[in-house]
Order: sequence, then C-alpha cells, then structure tokens
Amino acid sequence: MKKLSVFITTLLLALAMLPAASANAGGPPATFTTINFDADGGNHCKNGQPDATTVVNCNIYDGKQYVWLNGGPANANLAEGMYFFAVLVPGGQPDPNDGGAKNLSDTTLAPLATGSASGDVRANRTFTVAAGGVITYTGSAGSTPHDFDVSTNQIRLMPYDDTTNNGGVYILAICEIASVDATVNPRTCKYDAFKVQAPEAPVTVAAQLGLKMRRVVIDPGHGGRDTGAVGPHGVREKDVALSIARTLAERLRTLGFAVVLTRKGDTYVSLDERTRIANEAHADLFVSIHCNAARRRTLSGVETWTLNVASDRYATRLATFENADAERTVSDLRLILADLATRANASDARDLAQSVQGSLVRNLRARVGRVGDHGVKHALFYVLLGARMPAVLVETGFISNSLEEERLRGRKYQLETAEAIARGVKEFVDGRQRLARVP
Ligand SMILES: [Zn+2]
Repeated sequence: MKKLSVFITTLLLALAMLPAASANAGGPPATFTTINFDADGGNHCKNGQPDATTVVNCNIYDGKQYVWLNGGPANANLAEGMYFFAVLVPGGQPDPNDGGAKNLSDTTLAPLATGSASGDVRANRTFTVAAGGVITYTGSAGSTPHDFDVSTNQIRLMPYDDTTNNGGVYILAICEIASVDATVNPRTCKYDAFKVQAPEAPVTVAAQLGLKMRRVVIDPGHGGRDTGAVGPHGVREKDVALSIARTLAERLRTLGFAVVLTRKGDTYVSLDERTRIANEAHADLFVSIHCNAARRRTLSGVETWTLNVASDRYATRLATFENADAERTVSDLRLILADLATRANASDARDLAQSVQGSLVRNLRARVGRVGDHGVKHALFYVLLGARMPAVLVETGFISNSLEEERLRGRKYQLETAEAIARGVKEFVDGRQRLARVP
C-alpha cells in the first residue's frame, strides 16, 4: 500500500513538472509561439497561464496589441541568425513576402491608426539572434508600431489595425533570411496560429442567446467549373445546391431573417472566398448546401455536418471529396485553426445541426416519403474552416443513388428540403430565444 502511494506521488510530481506548453491541448508544442507577456498590464491571454514569466502556448488573446513573440530564442528554438516575421490571416498566401489583404504586415493599409499608407517596413519585421540567445531588434519601437523589451527579448507582433479577419484566427510566420532585404524563402518559415477574441461587450443574456441571430449566410456548394458530384443520369450537385439555396433564402427572408448568398448564379467561388463573405457579412449562422455521393450506389438519405477533425474513415473520405477544390491539402496548421474555430462555436453548431437534421427528416418523411436519417456528423470541412459563426454543411441527399438523384432534380424535393432547413434554422433560433426568456 505504502509503495503504491509513493508511486502515485512520484507520478503526480512527474506530471506536474511537465512543461506548461505540452499540457495544452492540440498536439505537441510549437517550436515557437506567442506569449502572454505582462508588459501591457493585466492578463490578456484567455487560455493560458496567467504567469507572465512562464512560456506558455497562449493562442487566444483579448486584443491584437497584446501579442508578443515568446520568451526568447532559446525557448523558441531559434538558432543564431537573422529572422523575418509576418502576421497572416488564414487561407493565406504561399509566401509571406506576398502582399495583399491576407498579409497584415505587408498591406498598404496603415499600421496602427497613424494614417500612414506604407504597411510595415521590412526593418520593423526583422530581428537577429546572437550568441546566448540575445535578440537584436532595430525596428521602430516605443511610440511606433512594434515594442521591444530588451530585458526579456520579446517583440510585440501586432500593431496592425487592418485585417480581413477581425476577431478571428491569425498566423504568425517566422522565416530565416540572409539579410534585411533578402527575399523570404517560404521553406525556411515556421508557423503558429493564434486567435484574438475581443472581450465581450456587456450584452444581455437574451442578446447572447439568440435575439441577435438574424443574419444567415447560405452557401450553395460548388459552382462554375466545379460541378461537384454528378449523378448517374447527369444531375449536377452545383445546380441542385443552388436551386435549394435560392429557395431557402426566400423562405428565411419570409421568416424575418437577413440572408446573404455566397453565389447567386453558376459561378466559381473559392472556399476561402465563401468564408470571407460570411465573416464580412457579420453573419450569425452559416449554412452550406451540398449533395452526397458514395461509391455504394444504394446509399441514400440526409445528413448534417459540423466542423471537426475527421475522426473515422467515412468522415475522412467525405471531407476529402467536399474539400477537393481546396488548393492545398489539410496541413497541421489547418488542424490547429480548425481546433480554434471549433472550440469557439462547437456547441452552437452542434445544436444548429441537430435542429436542421431533425427538421429535414421529420418534414421530408411527412411530405415526400421514405428518407434515410444519417444524423449529425463532424468532419474537417475546409469551407467551414475560419467561419466565425456556427456553421453547418447539409448533405441534402445522395446524387449517386439514381432514385435520390431523380428526387434531387425535382422541384418538389428541392422546395420541401429548403422549407425543412428553414424550419430547422428557425427552431434553433427560437430555442435560443426561449432560453433567453427564462429568468
Ligand atoms: Zn459538395
């Protein structure tokens, strides 16, 4: 007995001595990361250790200006040399040198609120690591964009007030360079993701729980050169999705919602663009409309998905198919981003998915006939990634099944499906409002 308790004590001690970073969820600690640095006063990290002197893999901050490169090169695994950093937004560019809206450091918009229209000069984003892990930083400091704390080797990363993803996920890139003006070789870059989530303004419980959920983005899957799945008799997913989406938009408008469509015609819209449209519309809910396809032609029925890391083989295959348009494969970085986005909206998205799926099955069975119920599932969908609102993807039927293909082509099934989804959305929002009224 004694021996056992000694063993347990030793085990607990060993656990307690694990570095803080590895105790964080989301895989192994990054070789560098951002830190909750207390120079700004208060604890601005929303998910890390409050102790400012501890290197912690903080990845949710309450303001951009509080994000610092972590506790020195020793902790960041940076060898001696010259480095360049850039702050990017997801769905970004292959090369941190590239300007444009997704490279916050390089945009032509003004850093801070200074009115300057130059972006951030290279010197401001370059630092040198010398022997002993000492950082030399010659960029503008103090009153200008980046602060530098000599005693702790930390550089403030985020002066930028311009962003296409305000309140969302950011990516920090650190790349080795030969000289200040050298072009960055993306292969030398390491990346880390973090999220800035402004503290909630004091809002009523009612507002929090749904009275404000009035704007829905409807995303008809595929379009243009991307036909989506094609049925045995040639029915194309992109056409069915658009037709259902348009009717859904009408129905939701009738129910009092403001609606934004990511595409109104047979046009190609990239997956990144769809998310951007949703975020810029400040939508409360995001509903993506698709048709399913399976190698097994007898498979039929409806299912509703939320964003998550694919957990089984079926989920992986479906996610791969719906993601086929994504220009890049799902990397570790995307998984980190998915994780952050998922945590932010998981329970709302799950409830919305339940409500939509339940309504689809109930209403279609009552008005159309037999409908398979595959329930609510979770997978990593690129199109849902980075959306800052509860987001679901509805598979309205199997276009690979000839009977269901015929149904999906027909106006009646499209109308009933749209109607059922609209009701599901309404029920979800009403449910939130009822909760809000409970004293
Ligand atoms: Zn699809």
